Amino acid sequence: LANLMDVPVNEVITKCIQSGIFVSINQRLEADIIELIAAEYGYDVEFISAEEEIAVEIEEEEDNPEDLVPRPPVVTVMGHVDHGKTSLLDYIRNTNVTAKEAGGITQHIGAYSVTTADGKKITFLDTPGHEAFTAMRARGAKVTDVAIIVVAADDSVMPQTIEAINHAQAAGVPIVIAINKIDKPTANPDRIKEQLAKINILVEEWGGPYQCQHVSAKTGEGIDELLEKVLLEAELLELKANPKRKASGTVIEAALDKGKGYVATLLVQNGTLHVGDIVLAGTHYGRVKAMTDHTGKRLKEAGPSTPVQVLGLNGAPQAGDKFNVMESDKEAREIANKREQILREQRIRASERISLETLSRRRALGDYKQLNLIVKGDVDGSVEALSDALLKLSKPDEIEVRIVHRGVGQITESDVNLAAVSDAIIIGFQVRPSANAKKLAEQEHVEIRLYSVIYDVINEVKDAMEGMLAPTV
Ligand code: GDP
Repeated sequence: LANLMDVPVNEVITKCIQSGIFVSINQRLEADIIELIAAEYGYDVEFISAEEEIAVEIEEEEDNPEDLVPRPPVVTVMGHVDHGKTSLLDYIRNTNVTAKEAGGITQHIGAYSVTTADGKKITFLDTPGHEAFTAMRARGAKVTDVAIIVVAADDSVMPQTIEAINHAQAAGVPIVIAINKIDKPTANPDRIKEQLAKINILVEEWGGPYQCQHVSAKTGEGIDELLEKVLLEAELLELKANPKRKASGTVIEAALDKGKGYVATLLVQNGTLHVGDIVLAGTHYGRVKAMTDHTGKRLKEAGPSTPVQVLGLNGAPQAGDKFNVMESDKEAREIANKREQILREQRIRASERISLETLSRRRALGDYKQLNLIVKGDVDGSVEALSDALLKLSKPDEIEVRIVHRGVGQITESDVNLAAVSDAIIIGFQVRPSANAKKLAEQEHVEIRLYSVIYDVINEVKDAMEGMLAPTV
């Protein structure tokens, strides 16, 4: 702040102390204090969010139109449980990936690329279901170009089918319908199309805009045609990228491997990533020591829409974090550290606020009981609906349900920290904790409960409340 206003740091510190705020040079000031101090020097303050602050620091060069070349589409497979998402992904991987060529076995790295019979490429995200899709979206990442919605022909359009369609549509991602298990004698694809029509998904064959393909993930019937339809849909999008620039993209997954260190799967979305590049991903960074594809084949470089596993980061970034190639190690480290600091401060601020609140409330309430909850869900709508239903469980003068925090996306370490300081239970609806959050929850004895049906949440919370109300012996 002192630098921005071009005044000595000590003067700013003195001003703070005069206002009763004791600060040191390394401390970040609260927004209202910044405003107060700046006003004394005649400045108006405009705040930008932490994310913007970070985004501002990473200069994204404009692409020269003549550098843009077509890139393969990135595809997500979504649909109801047991309708065959995993089988479909496995079938496509096993038939279209030449593992032998690399002398390796295909491994799960979170994404893979295939080449179709007529030599076209498609990249698949290998985590089926819409949890991964929404978790990424919640972090602001847009990775998917086309969504395949799988519906089993021997079953029906199910709640999760509808949810998957809603998620894809909310993200503006075109849909291709795959009616799976067509090999089964009980398959009835017309019934599925009828049910889809009822939710406004009218397939082409019936005069609607949605491409639809009968497939069997067991026999492979229709799968080539499905891929063609995906490519057709992708063509309309005119997907392009500039392989000549420094790489940027999204973290698909990351983990700590005992032998190799931190291993991250990155989807290059623009530019070309090289071995030796300095990568900044979320709050972590490092030089790419080695790069492999999903067959284990070593790569020297990877262009747009290529998923690669990289070694060399100094930690595991979160799925959905953006990554950028930076000019220098120093630059990457500075931004990573700044992001880390901002996150840490956000956590501390949240915990201070909550613990104080809890403390004073407890004092004021005396014997009064309250159940604190943190609600995380996959979509805004369900988080709101669930929170409302939970709040209604409060019984005046007996027990109060308090939602300390609600949000969309994966359960994170900061959720767990918040739960720890506010004695809250975390309710995850159609979302899971990150690996780190899970570890932290175990350490801090924070309870995380996962659900996929709203009704179950309500019932169990009700039971828990009765437990709290039961006389203690
Ligand atoms: P997911 O939960 O959507 O990932 O579904 P899975 O891929 O695990 O499939 C659920 C079950 O359906 C498994 O037992 C599969 O073997 C079976 N299945 C999947 N696709 C087909 C298919 O095309 N035909 C038949 N007969 N069974 C299938």
